Amino acid sequence: MTGVTILGSTGSIGVSTLDVISRHRDLFEPVALTANTNVRGLYEQCLAWRPRYAVMADADAAVRLKDMLQQGAPEIRVLSGEQGLQEVAGCAETDYVMAAIVGAAGLLPTLTAARNGKRVLLANKEALVMSGKLFMDAVRENGAQLLPIDSEHNAIFQCMPRDFNDGPAMTGVTRILLTASGGPFLTRPVGELDSVTPAEACAHPNWDMGKKISVDSATMMNKGLEVIEACWLFDTGVENVEIVIHPESVIHSLVEYSDGSVLAQLGNPDMRTPIAHAMAWPRRIESGVKKLNLSDISQLNFEKPDPERFPCLELARQALAQGGTATTILNAANEVAVAEFLGGRIRYTAIAEVVKQTLEGVTNQPADTLEQILEADKQARDYAGNQCRMSAGTSRQVMS
Ligand code: NAD
Ligand code: MG
Repeated sequence: MTGVTILGSTGSIGVSTLDVISRHRDLFEPVALTANTNVRGLYEQCLAWRPRYAVMADADAAVRLKDMLQQGAPEIRVLSGEQGLQEVAGCAETDYVMAAIVGAAGLLPTLTAARNGKRVLLANKEALVMSGKLFMDAVRENGAQLLPIDSEHNAIFQCMPRDFNDGPAMTGVTRILLTASGGPFLTRPVGELDSVTPAEACAHPNWDMGKKISVDSATMMNKGLEVIEACWLFDTGVENVEIVIHPESVIHSLVEYSDGSVLAQLGNPDMRTPIAHAMAWPRRIESGVKKLNLSDISQLNFEKPDPERFPCLELARQALAQGGTATTILNAANEVAVAEFLGGRIRYTAIAEVVKQTLEGVTNQPADTLEQILEADKQARDYAGNQCRMSAGTSRQVMS
């Protein structure tokens, strides 16, 4: 029986992970479930799954959860805060850690899982974007296994040769083709993007996801973060990763080889496929995903992304090329700007502007230690917060 900690069990990826586990109760057992503030959601999961640990990141929420569990399941240990998350990410009862907290909040527990030599099922791409070298070193030095959950990276992993760690020259890999749906605004006139609402930005055509990644998909910052993620995971340069817009989200990415072969992984857009793949790897298990019917789909389309419509792509590429803490700064500024947009305080088009200004305004430093990374994250959040307040002020003046 494999013990699994699910960081972010109440979210979109967390719920899909529990769905896959429910089909294989003989193989996997949830050891710990965690959430931020959703007490009711975690309470219901605790009653259904009876994990050993339940963690609420929010301390008040943890007190409420403990009270509620007194009746139905007093044996579950309720922990709280960053310390609680790290404890269940590294504990001896856990073999696999599903890293599905959204944003920078997932960095420390995900790093703890790597440092404790766990199989890390990585959905939380922001952790890798913030701390690429540090994180990959932690995986290598502690004998952890890193398996990508992000559908594109899981697809690339499936199309890569087993020995891809030997480097592209040895394995004949020439390029990674990262597919992108283009999100809800692929055909919206660029001049109208200024006035799109959070609800429109979150209405993704193919995937049902958390709010933050949905907005990132609309701006395509998600694809920018994924280019950075791919470079770290597959040890390659940004020049070897090409983004292809593929609105049907049936091909989840492709790998090109020196002999002209291009391998692709296809499937219905449902995160239970990459989750089941990474949990069972190197075996295969049933995931509950509907089988792909190619004649029903009948057509697959491809196009190049338009840099004017999606300025975040270039910002991400630049940050990766700069190195140091630039990608940490990019990620922090984007998280702040997306939260402000979702809160209705800044316009959609201000997201890219705030990220650009923050990359220009915060000094890029070496990213060798966790302290340097956390300091860059903090500085970028402060800077981006100020830029958002200025942007909100300008929008109000324009509107009144
Ligand atoms: P979500 O918003 O649905 O869920 C986020 C989870 O994290 C929730 O359980 C929430 O309680 C927890 N959380 C939020 N803030 C927290 C904090 N400060 N401290 C501790 N826990 C916190 O998000 P999601 O769509 O499931 O995405 C999770 C991660 O997976 C993101 O990094 C996203 O980029 C990545 N991802 C998601 C999908 C998808 O289809 N949803 C696909 C690829 C990658
Ligand atoms: Mg993805």
